[in-house]
Amino acid sequence: MSKVEKTINRYRMVSPGDKVLLAVSGGKDSIALTHIMHKISEKLGFELIVLHIDLGIEDYSKRSREIVENTCRNLGVNYVVLDLKNDLGLTLPEFVKKLKTRRICSLCGTIKRYVMNAAAIELNVSSIATAHHADDVLIYIMKNFILQDYEAMKKLVPVNNGVIGVVAKKIKPMYEVYEYEAALYAVHNKLEFIDRECPFKEVGSIEDNVRKFLEDLEKRSPGIKISFLRKFAKKYTGREIGEFNKCKVCGLASSSDICSFCRLTEKSFGKPLGSVVRSIFREKNR
Ligand code: AMP
Ligand code: ZN
Repeated sequence: MSKVEKTINRYRMVSPGDKVLLAVSGGKDSIALTHIMHKISEKLGFELIVLHIDLGIEDYSKRSREIVENTCRNLGVNYVVLDLKNDLGLTLPEFVKKLKTRRICSLCGTIKRYVMNAAAIELNVSSIATAHHADDVLIYIMKNFILQDYEAMKKLVPVNNGVIGVVAKKIKPMYEVYEYEAALYAVHNKLEFIDRECPFKEVGSIEDNVRKFLEDLEKRSPGIKISFLRKFAKKYTGREIGEFNKCKVCGLASSSDICSFCRLTEKSFGKPLGSVVRSIFREKNR
């Protein structure tokens, strides 16, 4: 039984008859997960659909999209693509220019999270899966702890339950898979994936330092990473949804009156685009 399958069973991530929307960037982790989820979908009785967000970052996004589309076509997996430029009118770099922000990764994260949630709600799926592996999750937990952002920290559980029509259920089938295992799987199976880093990736971030610290810790105490994650999951699962409002503009979850995606798009496009994203996926679902 694969480690992904074990993780799905351990945390009861899917049930027979579920529709799982898997967010795939084209990197090694999400491409490996596409292959594994496709392989086990029949046995576990769920339907797999892939979501790719084309951010319009020059050649990098072009190549990533090509890889995701090829992978899905070869496997016979249905997929949907949201193209920031064609569907909304601005690429991520253009968005960044309009907003005059330096926090590119955080802006990109906000856009991706919004699109994933909107897609899952409109496509009426049971859950949205991401390819966050054990190392990613641990780094984010430590980072949020250092920044004392407990709200964000608590959300890093293997299953985030949803609220019908507002917040999609989220699952992380690679919660107990190490990064090197995902890389080995991709290389061993000669999978096509994008091996370049995003040109906007920040270097020297808190993440990089925390990564080094965790590697050192694991070397001294092998197994400590997974044991920590299991304790964390036990402690916070079911307690991760804090208070939230519904965005007055698009109706999806928001921590304030208007969600950050509607606010950001209002600033850069002159009008909030949450409802537009929702209607794009509603159309795709017809
Ligand atoms: P990141 O925010 O880049 O660390 O990515 C976290 C997860 O989001 C990945 O494991 C993927 O499942 C998903 N993801 C990242 N980028 C994209 C993208 N462009 N399109 C679809 N899913 C993505
Ligand atoms: Zn909104």
